[in-house]
Amino acid sequence: MTDHASPGALPIGRGLRSRCPRCGEGRLFQGFLTLRPKCEHCGLDFSFADSGDGPAVFVILIGGALVVFAALITEVVYQPPYWVHAALWLPLILIVTLVPLRPLKGLLIALQYHHKAAEGQLERRGEE
Ligand SMILES: [Zn+2]
Repeated sequence: MTDHASPGALPIGRGLRSRCPRCGEGRLFQGFLTLRPKCEHCGLDFSFADSGDGPAVFVILIGGALVVFAALITEVVYQPPYWVHAALWLPLILIVTLVPLRPLKGLLIALQYHHKAAEGQLERRGEE
């Protein structure tokens, strides 16, 4: 799988596997969420990458909604004691937030690379 084979395809798989958005080989992260300075395979400089709060926002909104919905259904249907809620939802909230965070950050960086997204910059008139 190379960029040359499908230049217009979105690098979604590479992002979800936390691989370099250009070559798909080099690893993107050196810690849990810390980016490497550049790709160890093709040398792409990762300094362009800035996913900001994007991954956390998706995780909070989607994971939070799932867990709250499950907790509400469980309470309405079974009315278990509170320790059951704690035993169920505390581990689940860790799973639904920590597991997708890294693939989601990789995906957003891959999409940022693909669409050449960057901070807005002011253009001066008459300087073409
Ligand atoms: Zn690379």
